[in-house]
Formats: sequence, structure tokens, C-alpha cells
Amino acid sequence: NALEVEVASVADCPFAGKDLFMARANIVVAGSANTDMFILMDALPSAGETHIGGEFQTKPGGKGANQAVAAARAGSAVCLIANLGDDLFGKNTVETLVKERVSIDFVSLDRHAPTGVAMIMVDAAGQNMIAVAPGANSMLTPKHIEKAQPRIKDADFLLLQMEIPLDTVSYAIELAHDERTPVVLNAAPAPRSALPSDLIAKVDTLIVNEFEAAVLSGTRVDSPADGERAAQTLRNMGAKRVVITLGSRGALALGDKLFSVSAKTVEAVDTVGAGDAFCGALVTALGEGFEFADAVSFANAAAALACTRVGAQASLPARTDIESFWKQ
Ligand code: ADP
Repeated sequence: NALEVEVASVADCPFAGKDLFMARANIVVAGSANTDMFILMDALPSAGETHIGGEFQTKPGGKGANQAVAAARAGSAVCLIANLGDDLFGKNTVETLVKERVSIDFVSLDRHAPTGVAMIMVDAAGQNMIAVAPGANSMLTPKHIEKAQPRIKDADFLLLQMEIPLDTVSYAIELAHDERTPVVLNAAPAPRSALPSDLIAKVDTLIVNEFEAAVLSGTRVDSPADGERAAQTLRNMGAKRVVITLGSRGALALGDKLFSVSAKTVEAVDTVGAGDAFCGALVTALGEGFEFADAVSFANAAAALACTRVGAQASLPARTDIESFWKQ
């Protein structure tokens, strides 16, 4: 792994040496990192058609990288385990992560697979067509996780999503469980079917949206009562705490008791990245020892802020902004 970029270290942290530094959560994220390639155009082409005149943009993406950056901006010391291609996109991703002070000690550049890319075409009305080639993300194996075992052991939390192979997610959950590191699993995107319940039983905090809650619990989620039932089912499967995000309606959570938070009122311009902001902020707050209800409320504020700005990583809020907005 010949990464030339200097590793972000704790000493680089802007809070280093201050009291706040003592409270920083130590988070490991294992997940995807993509390059999102956008073409903004008047109208989407249909099959066989060529449209000329669009505007091209590239942006860093992938739920793993997004949530690592979300947690770092929310105040955590973050280490990302990811697999990138040994190509220009991979190197650019590494640079972005370093700028965001995410440790790249366990980010690999794979010579045999390209960096994951999402090709996104967006028309003037905001309609889109998206094709994703996971590339190196599908080559993130249990071996990569195993190498990071000491880091996972020392972490306050391990944060996972579902854009890497299920075998790797399962292995990471087992390893963290053996090391007594609590796991936050954001089961997104929705798996094709319910996850094995012995896996869910090893999850400390499960975060899902309504659709993912329905797939995992095997029940439709069309009403608040359905949401409560799904949360209960997922807890019965063994997850210690369950959070169901409800978009502009906020979130429902079940720990020792069931509670909900309403979404903070914002002028939402783009909800892309809201779920990732939520997960990064929630794991940060839990890692700092917040009560569960406070952590959910903190995450709800961070996610609302992410809706006020365009983009996935570009919209992720900084700690100071989350705190002042949260207290409003
Ligand atoms: P996902 O995009 O992963 O499906 P959701 O749509 O449930 O996730 O949104 C995640 C979180 O973002 C919500 O729980 C809420 O806190 C926040 N959120 C989403 N949409 C809005 C909105 N319009 N206004 C305020 N907060 C929002």
C-alpha cells in the first residue's frame, strides 16, 4: 500500500491540547468510497441517444467515506477502512480524506480493480439516472478488516453501511463483537432480504430509513404505528437500540424506551447526504458518551443542516454549526 500522502494524525486536530480534545470520540468506519461523476443537462438522453451540452462535475462520495467525513466534521477522530483503485480517482479520494483529517492508515489502493464510481445524469427538472460500478469497494474483504483489528479494538465505535460485500460487513461485526467494540450499523442501501438475526444480535445501534426498516423487519412501514412495530421487531432480533429515520418527519428511536424527535425546521434545498450526516453525528455523540436521546437529537440537528446545502460531502456540517443549531 504505497500511499504517498501523509497520514492525518491526532496531532493535526484543531482541538489538540484543548479540553474538548479529551472528549473526542475514536471512531472506525469500514465502508465504500466512490467518485460521483455528474452531468447536469437540459434533458436526459434515452437509450442510443447522444446529448451534447451538459456540465460535468466530479465529487467524492460513497456512504463509507461520506459518513467518515461526517463523523470527523462532527468532532470525532476517524479512521476509514476502504479499498480504492490505484488510479486518479483513488488518489483524489485519499487527498480529500486527508484534508478532512480522516486517517487513511487502512485505506488500500488496489491494482486489480478501479475506484468505485457513480455516473449521475441530472436534467433541468432534477430528475436523474444513476449507474454505479462498485469496483474496488466489492474487493474490500475480511482481510482488510483483520489488518485493522488493533484499531477496531481501541475504537469507541465501529460504524458500517451496506455498500461493501455482506461477508465483510458480517466479519467486521463479529470481530468488533469479540473485541467488545460496539457497532453502529446503517443498513443502507437496503439489503435484498432480511439480515441474519445472529448478526443483528451483535449490533449495538441499528440505523435504517423506513424502506430499510421494512426490508429488515419483514413488515410494511406506512404509518407511525408500523414504524413502532418495525423498531420493536428489530430490537427483538437483538439490536440493542434502533433508530428509524423518517425524512422530513424526523426520527423514531427505541432504546430502553420508545421516543421520537421531530425534524428541525430548515429550508431544505437538497436532502442528499442527510442520512450520512445523521449517522456520522450519531456515532460521534454516542462515542462522547451522550445519552441515547441526546445523541439522536444531536444527529437530527446535523442531518437537518445537511439539507440546507447541496451535495453529499459538501453539505456535511461542522461541529460548531451543529452545536449552535441544535441548541436553537
Ligand atoms: P435517507 O436519506 O437515508 O433515506 P432520511 O430521508 O430519513 O434518510 O433522512 C435522514 C434524516 O435527515 C432525518 O431523520 C432527519 O433528521 C433529516 N431530514 C431529512 N429531510 C429533512 C427535512 N426536509 N428537514 C429537516 N430534516 C430532514
